[in-house]
Amino acid sequence: MLAPQGVTMSDAIESLLKENRRFEPPAEFAKEARVTSREAYEALYRESVDDPDTFWRRESEALVFRTPWTKTLEWNLPHARWFLGATLNVSESCLDRHLSTPVANKTALLWEGENGDTRKLTYAELHRQTVLLASALKQLGIEKGDRVAIYMGMIPEVAVAMLACARIGAVHTVVFGGFSADALRDRIQDSQAKLVITQDGASRRGQIVPLKNTVDRALEQPEAKSATKTIVFRHFGSERCTVDMKEGRDLWWDDVLASVTTECAPEVVDAEHPLFILYTSGSTGKPKGVLHTSAGYLVGAHVTTKYVFDLRDSDIYWCTADVGWVTGHSYLVYGPLSNGATCFMYEGAPNYPDWGRFWSMVERHKITILYTAPTAIRACMRQGDAWPAKHDLSSLRLLGTVGEPINPEAWIWYHHTIGRGRCPIVDTWWQTETGSIMLTTLPGAAASKPGSTGLPLFGVVLDVVTPKGEAVGPNEGGLLVLRKPWPSMARTLWGDDERFRQSYFNTIEGCYFTGDGARRDEDGYMWVVGRIDDVLNVAGHRIGTAELESALVSHPAVAEAAAVGRPDDLKGTALVVFVSLRPGFSADQALRDQLGEHVAKEIGRFARPDVIRFADSLPKTRSGKIMRRLLKDVAAGRESTGDTSTLEDFGVLAKLRQDED
Ligand code: ATP
Ligand code: MG
Repeated sequence: MLAPQGVTMSDAIESLLKENRRFEPPAEFAKEARVTSREAYEALYRESVDDPDTFWRRESEALVFRTPWTKTLEWNLPHARWFLGATLNVSESCLDRHLSTPVANKTALLWEGENGDTRKLTYAELHRQTVLLASALKQLGIEKGDRVAIYMGMIPEVAVAMLACARIGAVHTVVFGGFSADALRDRIQDSQAKLVITQDGASRRGQIVPLKNTVDRALEQPEAKSATKTIVFRHFGSERCTVDMKEGRDLWWDDVLASVTTECAPEVVDAEHPLFILYTSGSTGKPKGVLHTSAGYLVGAHVTTKYVFDLRDSDIYWCTADVGWVTGHSYLVYGPLSNGATCFMYEGAPNYPDWGRFWSMVERHKITILYTAPTAIRACMRQGDAWPAKHDLSSLRLLGTVGEPINPEAWIWYHHTIGRGRCPIVDTWWQTETGSIMLTTLPGAAASKPGSTGLPLFGVVLDVVTPKGEAVGPNEGGLLVLRKPWPSMARTLWGDDERFRQSYFNTIEGCYFTGDGARRDEDGYMWVVGRIDDVLNVAGHRIGTAELESALVSHPAVAEAAAVGRPDDLKGTALVVFVSLRPGFSADQALRDQLGEHVAKEIGRFARPDVIRFADSLPKTRSGKIMRRLLKDVAAGRESTGDTSTLEDFGVLAKLRQDED
């Protein structure tokens, strides 16, 4: 059996988090919630596990199936097939089904550009655009099963592009618009995409990011030769953003839409027809091309959006994630649109022109649900309370977080300063591979505990086990695994089924291994303590990175922290932490001593870091996650040999290395 690095341990991970604050659902919220008690949640959960057929049939009633399924699941480890016999077209559930209802004229996408421009697209308009683009793609020779790369910014047309692919049964692969030409080339090559949909440029901090130029540089390379056509949406005028259009290869979006002669009917596909390929964030290694299919994925995204965000018809829902990440797929496009929600979409930087931007948008657009990531919460927290204090945030009724463990201090800040103590927080744990949210506390149904990702969602059967696969007791740390298949699970890694098996199914027999470490408390709540590969072994104690980092972030001087181990002749592993400070604190020896004492007090003397390094910022993936594997290299004073294509800012890494000398 192949054990990933760090899983060879015989002892379990010690979990030391002493967080014991609890926040009951606000009474006002609970009264109206979809699920109003822990018992009601338990009953639904039990049904989803014991009688999945009844559960999923009822919960997916709103979705459009051309033919219903005849068999719920076929499980041939590591391959699951869900809802066998069903046929559908995913875009019908997201668009067509609303046309005969009042939702047709409801705003589907409410967009704001960085310069303050706004646009609104109703469901009927989004449908129209999608049908036109889908017809155009067909006319260009794109067929069912062909791959189409989408390299765009956060504008409504990116949703149109995704849905148009779904409509003709083409498989989209959205590549985050911040990626380089080489990263785009690699993804085109891996997926063998035939066509690239892009735009002239996108706004970022007052500048224009020239997306089409980057596509040109990717397509010049022989590795990307599968892509022989592009469709370019004009987001700016030609005076603001010039693009080279290559004759015979590049087409303007408006021209191709104008040339559409036939209206294509939605391509009805099998439940297991591929919907998209999405490359993972690359926090832990080379990105993996995760494949999701039609029915299971749609059902997962639809049902979780409805329950986790407790969606109401009147909500203005804002998921801040870029569509280039899975969160943007499931909770900006497929989940909310299949529920007929109004989605807010923002193109631009969170701190442009200043750190009040998010809160000003919440106020102006009366946003009711905000779903964002710990990295954004910590960044805002670092800027102080004055920014949110300037705005009326009373429209908010629910807050969410995803992407990394949220440090309890950041949770408390989010709760008090943004939610003003009124809004439940849903801390949602899931992965690109899981397709939809797996763990959270349903708002209204169960209390939240800062730093805990709560309880399993419907159909999710998980466990915390030793490396040998034995279940551990309450509050004992171990490996987080899923014991049963769930509808929106990844079906394979594109073109590399063997890596799929190796990455997820070869560690713990019969289970999907998540790569994360966790513990379950006496109440059944899950606490994700970090990546198993990052678990720190300090003087015989095993500590998750999340716990040590959260202890540091609970000190008033610390905005963000990352903990890694460094090989040490004497101790085996020395503990190195990288810390960025809140404004007004000076990075000196006195503060170092204080922080060391603070960790000793919060966790224990053994966890006192050997080295505390101050940093302006920490290296992150482009989706905002701390890349500990690079910090490990910095701490050990060695070059990074792993894949760095998803690193957000090479300057941060260079600066850390320079500070070393
Ligand atoms: P790669 O798999 O390429 O290394 P990645 O794991 O960062 O990248 P994603 O699929 O975007 O790519 O992220 C999933 C991971 O993010 C989870 O395995 C977990 O480590 C972390 N994560 C996501 N949400 C939460 C959360 N609410 N609490 C704690 N950790 C989370
Ligand atoms: Mg991962």
